[in-house]
Amino acid sequence: MSTDTAPPSAATPEPLPEPAAGVYVEPTIDVSALQAVLDGKYAEIRNLVRRNLADYASVLEDAETLSTDDYRERVKQIVVEMAATGQTGMGFPQEYGGGGDIGASIAAFETLAFGDLSVLVKVGVQFGLFGGAILQLGTREHHDAYLPGLITGETMGCFAMTETGHGSNVQALGTVATYDVATQEFVITTTREDARKDYIGNAAKHAELAVVFAQLHVAGGSEGVHAFVVPIREGGKPCPGVRIEDDGLKMGLNGVDNGRLWFDEVRVPRTAMLNRFADVTPAGVYESAIENPNKRFFTMLGTLIQGRVCVGGAGINAAKVAMTIATKYALRRRQFEATSDDTEELLLDYGLHQRRLLPLLARTYALHFTQERVSGELHDILSGVVEGEQRQRELESLAAGVKALGTWHATRTIQECREACGGAGYLAVNRFAALKADTDVFTTFEGDNHVLLQLVAKGLLTDYSSEFADLDQFGMVRFVAGLAVETVLERTSVHKLLERIKDVLPGGDDGWDQEAGLLDPDYQLAMLRFREEHMLGGVARRLKRGIDNKMNPGAVFSQVQDHVIGAARAHVERLVLEAFVEKTRALPDGDLKVALNLLCDLHALSTIEADRAWFMEHGRLTSARSKAISREVSSLCRKVRPLAADLGDAFGVPPEMLRAPDLVGPTGV
Ligand SMILES: Cc1cc2nc3c(=O)[nH]c(=O)nc-3n(C[C@H](O)[C@H](O)[C@H](O)COP(=O)(O)OP(=O)(O)OC[C@H]3O[C@@H](n4cnc5c(N)ncnc54)[C@H](O)[C@@H]3O)c2cc1C
Repeated sequence: MSTDTAPPSAATPEPLPEPAAGVYVEPTIDVSALQAVLDGKYAEIRNLVRRNLADYASVLEDAETLSTDDYRERVKQIVVEMAATGQTGMGFPQEYGGGGDIGASIAAFETLAFGDLSVLVKVGVQFGLFGGAILQLGTREHHDAYLPGLITGETMGCFAMTETGHGSNVQALGTVATYDVATQEFVITTTREDARKDYIGNAAKHAELAVVFAQLHVAGGSEGVHAFVVPIREGGKPCPGVRIEDDGLKMGLNGVDNGRLWFDEVRVPRTAMLNRFADVTPAGVYESAIENPNKRFFTMLGTLIQGRVCVGGAGINAAKVAMTIATKYALRRRQFEATSDDTEELLLDYGLHQRRLLPLLARTYALHFTQERVSGELHDILSGVVEGEQRQRELESLAAGVKALGTWHATRTIQECREACGGAGYLAVNRFAALKADTDVFTTFEGDNHVLLQLVAKGLLTDYSSEFADLDQFGMVRFVAGLAVETVLERTSVHKLLERIKDVLPGGDDGWDQEAGLLDPDYQLAMLRFREEHMLGGVARRLKRGIDNKMNPGAVFSQVQDHVIGAARAHVERLVLEAFVEKTRALPDGDLKVALNLLCDLHALSTIEADRAWFMEHGRLTSARSKAISREVSSLCRKVRPLAADLGDAFGVPPEMLRAPDLVGPTGV
């Protein structure tokens, strides 16, 4: 049934008599109750971060007024002071001064994204990347030596993986660590100019230690990439053999000191190798419980996905700031007399403005609940609550997919919200300048989004089987040649898909052209599942054709790459909707459930609408039904419009972080 059973309510409706069954009644949103739903079980830590953000609100101005050097120092100072509140150490074991709660550490990080993003990224580098590598790749000796100092921020460090020559393809790094059995040391060397470490956060100015990723050479053999703790700076000066250069001014995040590192035969003791997964004995014998080098490498990287999960969550939360500002502005700003002769219309009463902002608002909620699922899963796996290689692989895939969609959502939302605030949105004081510039790179670091979606697709095509999910870029040839294409084809046969989708349609396939069922989550999910599996089947068929034609497997994969990305994206879109549907279904009946159902429908139908050409091409939408979906999206926008202010407020962005006096008013409320 269409939701247009009541007139669209742009203005506050008169109190209604008891509604007849099936008649829509506008829900009243209890903002704190909705914020409690969003904050989930980590409300306390999120509120601590909110308070800290308010206390350090002046950094938003510092970012615009201080010199780069002073801004960097200010950011460092804030990071260290925030560390003293316990906010940044939540993910470390309690015995070292941490909070012992991974889920809480992700919640804290996400919430920090409401504020200055240089502070966020500096925290990410110090505690997530550097601290995370020591914690996850190191063993007791490393934990004892480094964790207490790094948790307080007394010891600053960096995570030196990327090189100028290689970012996404980490297995091709050119830095080498050669074991010298005579002195029982590793010799770290930058073997060629493009093997210099690049873009490394904290490297240009503050880090004393670096976790350096390098090819391990032992007894003339190469054992692949491993990580080593290397002192790079002492008393503010580079250590002997280490050269450091500043990356200079960046598009954003200029409170973080990114830099380059070169190593000229820098010697570190044998114990500097982070040896949780592999070790070198004093006599120079390489040992690892994981025999397959690819598997070993991906197991090591797999332990570091917390950073990826955090960046995805930070992107989603940065989008919330933009959404909150643009919504508030649209409820204050008037332009043109449209429905009255003497009062100009509020921006949010224009259908176009609703269409621009409200589906993005709905998607922000959808991604929030998906992110909640990812961080819950990560918490359970890293804390040992659940175990299993398959779960770990599925989590890695989900984390990659949500990072990609979450950070792309931030980029798109911030731009749309800036435009929705007109010229005022362009003034630096109103937040968008920093939001845009600082979040832009979220789509690149912690894994380039397109590369991540290829990882997602590989997992889908292989059903997360260990043999192929671990592959590097060169392994693509083996991957394509060895892919069990028939299995994928069987799993995704169009006939089967149609059978399944027919089951959820009222009136079976004959009911396809009616408007019925548009607001049924099972129908919406079936549509997204159909698209996902159809695309996956298409990829498998195209790969098979290439292999059958004896084409080079790498070239085959390259030719179908756009299709691969499409399938991965369709998969993640389905998971996002699933998370939103599950969350709303689990809510007790009442106004909040009604409001979130509206948003969930809006998200689902606007997602289908955005790809209606594909659904029509594949016979899953007639033009009549496609038009019905567009009508429904507009209708849902009109219903969400009176709720928009409350839905934005429930994100709980501290008023001090909204700043934007021209847009939201001086108090931010
Ligand atoms: C501000 C900032 C901070 C950073 N901080 C750190 C840090 O602290 N530590 C650290 O180690 N690194 C850091 N990085 C590096 C970052 O992680 C890398 O830039 C990122 O992994 C991408 O690598 P790349 O720059 O080499 O891009 P590339 O891998 O060269 O990618 C360039 C483009 O090519 C595309 N591409 C790549 N491979 C394929 C393929 N197989 N098929 C199709 N397309 C492909 C990508 O989608 C992308 O669009 C930072 C970077 C920045 C900008």
